[in-house]
Amino acid sequence: MAKKGRRNGPLDCRGRNIEEAEKERIRDEIEAAARIQAVSDIVASYPRGPGTLNFVIIDVQSWCRVAEGGRWVCMPAEVGVVEMSATQGIVREWHKLIHFGTVPLGYRHEMMTKRDREHRIPMDLDKLESDYVAIVDELLTFIAACVGPDFATGLRQHSVFVMPNRKDEVQESWRWLCNMTKTDEDRLEFFELPLLLSVMAKEVGRSRAAVTPSVRVAEGLLEKEHFSYSRNVACSVFHENEGCASSACALGRARSLAYHFCVYVCPLMEVRLLEKVHYPAEFDVSNVTGA
Ligand SMILES: [Zn+2]
Repeated sequence: MAKKGRRNGPLDCRGRNIEEAEKERIRDEIEAAARIQAVSDIVASYPRGPGTLNFVIIDVQSWCRVAEGGRWVCMPAEVGVVEMSATQGIVREWHKLIHFGTVPLGYRHEMMTKRDREHRIPMDLDKLESDYVAIVDELLTFIAACVGPDFATGLRQHSVFVMPNRKDEVQESWRWLCNMTKTDEDRLEFFELPLLLSVMAKEVGRSRAAVTPSVRVAEGLLEKEHFSYSRNVACSVFHENEGCASSACALGRARSLAYHFCVYVCPLMEVRLLEKVHYPAEFDVSNVTGA
């Protein structure tokens, strides 16, 4: 039997307020349904068919992620963005290495630990840029030029796609850049990439009676590491600096996601996979497709 909470009603066996937990569950379900609908609308509204929909994938690598005042602060070290469509593969890329500026007290240890353990980007690298206004400007210009989901809306807000497990870090990095430049955070709207893969696979696979991957399965397909250690995936910094793990490169991760997307969706559309378009140069794609 549920225990009675002192002030807020009955509690469940884990001590949570039953009514609150139920409200939260319903809220999550409504939000998830709205996200699926939003992505379905994007795919359905594209006039030349979902396979030619251009969209933007973004990922970041960060100097550190620190809890401060009840929220996470993430300082971006690298941003990697690709514009792609399933048929054309990667059509444009944007990449930036970002200087951390003045390091707040207590952050340096965290930064050095993350550098040594994860990305190994030298903190004194001359390619680190610190004109944050120019960086945000360039990034938004790049995204706005994507001939994609926002083309008909003329909105100031642009859709970008991220992996669910990377969403917090990417959004927090975007917030950090917005704080530094007094930019409206809402200029970007973040959607989950597996949702897009699932919806698109359903659309293009419909006539071929292909099985639609669930969002969870789509996430697994995108998370595979076929391209993580392949040459020509990570940015030059990760090649030039010994010890840099290419799977920690933001651009490398964005590119890998695009390649995984193509390798799954192209066969559904009977589009032949092309080297340097749908998968990296010097990569044996038959290892992935089984062809
Ligand atoms: Zn990189």
